[in-house]
Amino acid sequence: MRRVSVFGATGSIGQNTLDLIARAPDDYDVVALTGAGNVSRLARDAKRLHADVAVTARVDLLDDLKAALAGSGIEAAAGDAALLEAADRPTDWVMSAIVGAAGLKPGLRALRHGGTLALANKESLVCAGPLLLSEARRYGATILPVDSEHSAVFQALVGEDPAAVEKIIITGSGGGLRDWPLDRLTQATPEDAGSHPNWDMGQRITIDSASMFNKAMELIETKEFFGTPPGGIDTVIHPQSLMHALVQFRDGALMAHLGAPDMRHAIGYALHWPDRRDLPVDRLDLTTIGQLDFHAPDPARYPALALARAVMAGGGLRGAAFNAAKEYALDLFIAREIRFTDMAIHVAETLETMEARGCLDAAALTLDMVLDTDREARALTRAAASA
Ligand code: NDP
Repeated sequence: MRRVSVFGATGSIGQNTLDLIARAPDDYDVVALTGAGNVSRLARDAKRLHADVAVTARVDLLDDLKAALAGSGIEAAAGDAALLEAADRPTDWVMSAIVGAAGLKPGLRALRHGGTLALANKESLVCAGPLLLSEARRYGATILPVDSEHSAVFQALVGEDPAAVEKIIITGSGGGLRDWPLDRLTQATPEDAGSHPNWDMGQRITIDSASMFNKAMELIETKEFFGTPPGGIDTVIHPQSLMHALVQFRDGALMAHLGAPDMRHAIGYALHWPDRRDLPVDRLDLTTIGQLDFHAPDPARYPALALARAVMAGGGLRGAAFNAAKEYALDLFIAREIRFTDMAIHVAETLETMEARGCLDAAALTLDMVLDTDREARALTRAAASA
């Protein structure tokens, strides 16, 4: 039996992960499940999967969690220290699916077991890619990508010489506002931006898809995870979301990965790797699909992509600043305090200010440096938005 923990178990990725685990209960010993606000779902899943411990990030909800778990024998805990304690429990496989920079510390801790970290939390790689990878090497742990595009690239590279890669191309749907006239984008509400044409995901990543901040994060993630130079990474709009990524090799061959837009594919690949097992995902019928479309993203509609290019070129602490500014701007948009188009403006202002202060260069990252940069970028974004 494999010992598994799922961080962010109550979210979209977490629930898809539990769906796969629940289909083969004899294969898994569930150690820890974590969530934040949704303690009833957390308790329900901890009971049905016989977890050892359930942890909510919200200390104010500990009593609710304890009440929901009463009589089950499952431990209940709350708060950041409890999340780290859960990450310290020995496991073979951990899903990192907390949303945002909050996923960084538990992910780093879980690497210490030397097992497998299935990484959905792209923010970890964006803000602290070199740190995460060096910790994985230090403890002999394996990080497997769960983002569908990066899982696709990872699969296309099996058995290939990394030196033979010329270019990595990740696709994006263009999000829920892709057909809106440019001059209407200022009026988009969180509800407008929070509905995706193809994927069923959490609210934050769905809005990030509409702004393509999600793709911007994924460009940086590609650089960090695969070590590809920024000039060798590209993105194209592919409205059908059936081809997730392509790898171009030095002989001109393009290896593409296609599959239904269902995160259980990438999660299942990371769960069973290096094997492939049956997965409950739809099979594609190419004759029914008929046509696949691709076009270049419009820089005026998606300014986040140019910001990501600057972050990739500069490295250092720019990813941490970019991610934190983006997260804070997204909070403000969801709270209806700024407009959809203001998000990229305020992220750019924050990066410019930090660049001018000369605080984004660093030869080697430490967790403290990343957390300090995160705090400063959030404060600057708040100031930019209220100016
Ligand atoms: P959701 O918003 O659906 O779920 C987020 C999870 O994190 C929930 O379990 C939530 O708890 C928990 N959480 C929220 N805030 C905190 C916090 N401060 N501390 C600890 N836990 C917290 O997100 P998704 O599942 O959509 O995304 C998760 C991660 O996976 C993100 O990094 C995202 O970018 C990435 N990803 C998601 C994809 C998708 O298809 N959804 C695709 C590829 C990557 P609760 O719900 O109980 O409040």
